Amino acid sequence: MNLYQNRIVIKVGTSTLTNEAGNNNLRSFDRLACVLSDVRNMGYEVILVSSGAIAAGSNKLHMLQRPASMRHKQAAAAVGQCALMILYNKFFCDYDKTIAQILLNAEDIEHEEKKENLINTFDTLLEMGVIPIVNENDSVSYTEIESEGRLFGDNDMLSAVVAVLCRAKMLVILSDIDGFYDKDPRLYPHAKLIGKISQIDESVYALAGGAGSRRGTGGMKTKIKAAELATAQGINTTITNGNNPAALYEILKGNSVGTLFTGKQSPPLLIGSK
Ligand code: ADP
Repeated sequence: MNLYQNRIVIKVGTSTLTNEAGNNNLRSFDRLACVLSDVRNMGYEVILVSSGAIAAGSNKLHMLQRPASMRHKQAAAAVGQCALMILYNKFFCDYDKTIAQILLNAEDIEHEEKKENLINTFDTLLEMGVIPIVNENDSVSYTEIESEGRLFGDNDMLSAVVAVLCRAKMLVILSDIDGFYDKDPRLYPHAKLIGKISQIDESVYALAGGAGSRRGTGGMKTKIKAAELATAQGINTTITNGNNPAALYEILKGNSVGTLFTGKQSPPLLIGSK
């Protein structure tokens, strides 16, 4: 499988897009839009996978806490997805970029014809200089909301699936922490950042704990799973801090930032390919 050398997928989590109070972190949106637009101007094709719909919807609906029932979560996601895209549109417009929304379910990837359509849509948008913004279609499916070992499960996994589908050269997962540590730094203050991992096995999973903040979702386990899927297809995957999206410039130069999971040399076929 040939990867597009100038195509990158960035995933951003709810904990980067909201502040401690759970409100929209406008500075984060702005920084992210600025860097991604600039990187696009440098000639890279950029796809953003963004969580945050339920949080944005809860804000918009003035909910005092994150909704508990499935139907309230899905309703909040429906409201929040609009709110999220309005924010992205505002900030990306400031940097003269056009965005597009793509909402996906696992079935869209598992079904051969839908998958082909999807790939064509991504390719065409990227050719036209558009920045696609992808999320799971939370109001229809529930895998990110309540993951049960499905293909996506969460947006970390969705970002890896999109990277593979679009044959991106690189996946960057922006989190609320600097990278992958030898233990959860929130529980162990002396935990050490691991700069590079070339083999993902049980010993790596054993170091990964769950979500760090009440706003986070997957924690490190889902990020490692995503890295495992992407690197198996030859796609280098980096976990770094979403507070500093400018780290992307360094990552593109090949400098060491956060934790790099190196892609396998001879990637096998795309997922779902015959
Ligand atoms: P996001 O919204 O960025 O996806 P998550 O809360 O889902 O945020 O995941 C990041 C959190 O994972 C960190 O804040 C940290 O507390 C937790 N975590 C668990 N184990 C580790 C580890 N080994 N290294 C780094 N972070 C870890």
